[in-house]
Amino acid sequence: MKILVINCGSSSLKYQLIDMSDESVMAKGLVERIGIEGSVLTHRPEGMDKVVIESPMNDHKDAIKLVLDALVDEKHGVIKDMSEISAVGHRVVHGGEKYSESVLINDDVMKTLEECTHLAPLHNPPNLIGINACKALMPDTPMVAVFDTAFHQTMPKHAYMYALPYELYEKYGIRRYGFHGTSHRYVSLIASEMLGKDISECRIITCHLGNGASLAAVNKGKSVDTSMGFTPLEGLVMGTRCGDIDPAIVTFLQKEEGMDSEEVNNIMNKKSGVLGLSGVSSDFRDIEGAAENGNERAKLALDAFHYRVRKYIGAYAAAMGGVDAVVFTAGLGENSPKTRLEVCKGLEFLGIEIDEAKNNVRGKKVDVSTENARVKVFVIPTNEELMIARDTMEIVSR
Ligand code: AMP
Repeated sequence: MKILVINCGSSSLKYQLIDMSDESVMAKGLVERIGIEGSVLTHRPEGMDKVVIESPMNDHKDAIKLVLDALVDEKHGVIKDMSEISAVGHRVVHGGEKYSESVLINDDVMKTLEECTHLAPLHNPPNLIGINACKALMPDTPMVAVFDTAFHQTMPKHAYMYALPYELYEKYGIRRYGFHGTSHRYVSLIASEMLGKDISECRIITCHLGNGASLAAVNKGKSVDTSMGFTPLEGLVMGTRCGDIDPAIVTFLQKEEGMDSEEVNNIMNKKSGVLGLSGVSSDFRDIEGAAENGNERAKLALDAFHYRVRKYIGAYAAAMGGVDAVVFTAGLGENSPKTRLEVCKGLEFLGIEIDEAKNNVRGKKVDVSTENARVKVFVIPTNEELMIARDTMEIVSR
């Protein structure tokens, strides 16, 4: 069975075609600048050179049409006919409280997803546009929605409720949802395999550290807490997001600076995090470089980032009454030995100890803990696309 995985952003689209007989990627690619001048598709068929196709694309339907054409192209295609695609798996950011697992898309599901749009006004609309565009081009192919929020629906109520008037939860669904669920689910599964135990016997803390970053406490295979909340703004210090702050700062800024809610929102989401603290960049490679050259604010940004992750690891060990493994994943977690080392410094009391020689790896699945450490520390490259494809296959095979 061949599954096409689609991840639609507002002006971009990522895709992978996966052969589920051996879970190999047949082709993957990225469309950028959809609806903007200079639209371009970069198509990477397995075992062949990448192809860059510049072509005007008015909307996501044009983009998906171009992707499908590339997949069946005589020269750089990987399948003969579109009918070889058995199903399409779509990444959808917000499934609200309704979806605790992936779901076959039908009219009712589309209606519910539209109702969830107010919870993720930036992310869900492009996801829905992508689904509609695919449905128009492949009307007979089953489609599955896989949600970023679904894995965290197992959080207990005391972990997901904010201490706000209860009526706000009832009226608007204001509560913690969490994101990056597909990634946390994938790496916690792999971690249980590396521990040699069934996931039902493991307490795992997963650290998804990319431009957006979150931690999850995964107890017996279920997410029992995660650092992102009602939106992806809560929790860690991120590339450009502030993470946890005193909410009174919002009204203070509105009063003192005469800002409206949009301006404050923009500061917290786009101008804060390590970018705001360092004044250098939102990219950790630039900040690590500046810190090495003695830039004090870059050092401060990194210290604040590491400290926040460390604090959450301590909190999640407490939430689960212990921990068997800590996992690092995503751009920074997979590729920055320094981040892993700095985060884990001072956590020896929990039994977390990193072997510096083993830790000197990038982008590989590996155990980097010292031989006698009570808690394993794993680097595990995430693979959200594979998880989406697995869910899609499972659901369309029912
Ligand atoms: P993601 O959002 O998962 O793509 O991760 C992006 C982040 O990972 C960026 O801030 C990158 O700077 C960071 N990153 C990727 N490779 C490295 C590396 N080799 N060293 C440090 N940071 C890295």
